[in-house]
Amino acid sequence: MILCSNPGAQYRAHKAEVDAAIQRVLNKGWFVLGQEVEKFEAEFSAYIGTSHSIGVGSGTESLHLALAACGIGSGDEVITVSHTAVATMAAIELTGATPVLVDIEPDYYTLDPEKLGAAITSRTKVILPVHLYGQPAKLEPILEIAEQHGLLVIEDCAQAHGAKYKDRRVGSWGHMGCFSFYPTKNLGAFGDGGMVVTNDPELAQRVHLLREYGWAERYVSHIRGWNSRLDEIQAALLRVKLQYLDEDNGSRARLAKCYDEGLQGIGLGLPRTREGTTHVYHLYVVRSQRRDELLKFLRESEIGALVHYPVPVHLQPAYQGCRIACEGLPETERVAQEVISLPIYPELSERALQTVIDAVEAFFSKISQERQEQEV
Ligand SMILES: *Cc1c(COP(=O)(O)O)cnc(C)c1O
Repeated sequence: MILCSNPGAQYRAHKAEVDAAIQRVLNKGWFVLGQEVEKFEAEFSAYIGTSHSIGVGSGTESLHLALAACGIGSGDEVITVSHTAVATMAAIELTGATPVLVDIEPDYYTLDPEKLGAAITSRTKVILPVHLYGQPAKLEPILEIAEQHGLLVIEDCAQAHGAKYKDRRVGSWGHMGCFSFYPTKNLGAFGDGGMVVTNDPELAQRVHLLREYGWAERYVSHIRGWNSRLDEIQAALLRVKLQYLDEDNGSRARLAKCYDEGLQGIGLGLPRTREGTTHVYHLYVVRSQRRDELLKFLRESEIGALVHYPVPVHLQPAYQGCRIACEGLPETERVAQEVISLPIYPELSERALQTVIDAVEAFFSKISQERQEQEV
């Protein structure tokens, strides 16, 4: 079976260093929010290019905490997309605010800035673009519109660690950036974890307080917070893996290029990279109107292709009746029926990649043969 993503292979690639980092924490005997977290926060800030990073419990929590630090709550509206992980939506609703969903750009699968104007109301407080699949959203027009309307921009970077828009990494463009370290992400822990980044010292301080009961010093809550902490073992191994992130993203880009070349001209929609950005290929997503058959064919060929995401958030049972921008979400709904993610991770061998390409080609020659037989 060729897996779609493979966090176990990452461990094996850096086993000695990761084992040593974990052992260091175990020997020290300090397990939650300590020196490893502080060092990782500083190293992550240096990498992303922000003055502050705050380690938290998960990607969902990084969004929840960022929104809460901005004072977002009941009665406020947050504009985002429906073509995303459900976590984006869940985090907004955790604050009590109302998500308002706008459509995506069909070529890049990210929030369409042209659709923002009609979605903004007097209650809108935040625009929350998602850098989906590793591709930066169209940040500059989004930031411009936000500024015109006095809104904040919070970036969901859970799939785009290290991706660049122009010359700066995502997470450093908006007022706050939010990351997940779920094991399959480009920078993945061996458990849950997340990070909020910002250049605003006051917002950073609020996230700091909120992630641990509002404590400025132990046992005294200055504001009402909760518990969303990063642990020392995750921080220690993430410090190891952060050193390899650019190299790993480079491997993903190389594999994506091999797919691009190998899959050309067989009738699949291939991923496009927005000009002036670096795509970090969290996922390699292609499009086909025969998606469901292709998925079945690949699964039968022991290839772990997946669909991100089969049902847009607004069509999922739990989110019936949620707020949709007035023009509806036609691109989102179309994309959900056509996208399929092929295996990609830094350790994927070129031989395995060729097996995937061969299987996709076999599928398309099978259907063209069937078509010819029908015509005869
Ligand atoms: C993974 C992901 C999240 C949530 O991260 P968790 O760590 O799983 O809570 C949020 N947004 C997007 C786009 C994601 O892919």
